[in-house]
Amino acid sequence: MLPDDPQRSPNLVPVLLYHDVTRTPATRAFRRFVIPPTLFAEHLAALREAGYATGRVSELSSTPRTQQVVFVTFDDGFAGIVEHALPALAGQGMTATLYLPSAFVGGRAAWLAPEGESGRLLLSWSDVQDAVASGFEIGSHGQRHLELDMLSSSRLQRELVGSKRVLEDKTSSAVGSLAYPFGYNDNRVRSATRAAGYGTACEVGWGLHPRGRDSYRIRRFLVGPDVAGDRLAALLAEDRPTASQLVRRYSGPAWRLARRTRSSYASCQQTRTRRHD
Ligand SMILES: [Zn+2]
Repeated sequence: MLPDDPQRSPNLVPVLLYHDVTRTPATRAFRRFVIPPTLFAEHLAALREAGYATGRVSELSSTPRTQQVVFVTFDDGFAGIVEHALPALAGQGMTATLYLPSAFVGGRAAWLAPEGESGRLLLSWSDVQDAVASGFEIGSHGQRHLELDMLSSSRLQRELVGSKRVLEDKTSSAVGSLAYPFGYNDNRVRSATRAAGYGTACEVGWGLHPRGRDSYRIRRFLVGPDVAGDRLAALLAEDRPTASQLVRRYSGPAWRLARRTRSSYASCQQTRTRRHD
């Protein structure tokens, strides 16, 4: 039986977004997406102390409101999470969902050239299979980490269907969840995502996910290296607007960068202002 949560609104679900967990130094543009292993361990300890269980994103909508569950997600599949994050989670009896760009598994983060991080190592297929065997969920992050809403319909279809097929073949398990690369999506992308057989899809956001919101627009809470463990639990206990404001304050001005002029990976956070969805 999982603990009840008398403090946080049962209508708000915390879905955390991480990228790399490693001691490997990052460029200035990418630093805010890298969490030191010791800090990640602090985060897990704080979540555990606050009474959270962990869940897999594909099961988010079926999680009872009375259960206090946090959904931990990792985008991109950096090698550091295999060495540091997954063992730490497994050691606490926790799970997570890993969103992988299928064409880059076993290689390097080529799409991060503008951030000077194209050499950052990604996990291997063997790592992916081990993660599945350990109970972690694998989701798709497209094939080549492209901005899905900018693609032709046929290319979009290939990214969604092709990545799902490859990931399912390699893991011998169903892939039911997608994370939009850079968070970008619109009506067309969401419809194609549903048609491709995904049941849930994640955006990037600055707060907690309102239960009952479109399951193809799951809002995630990007956790930066400047959020201490005890602060993380406090943020999750806040209501959504407050948490949003606090995280923005922590995050500095980079989130305001426009998509077309982006000079850092901050564009991964849906900084675009045009609204067509
Ligand atoms: Zn990504």
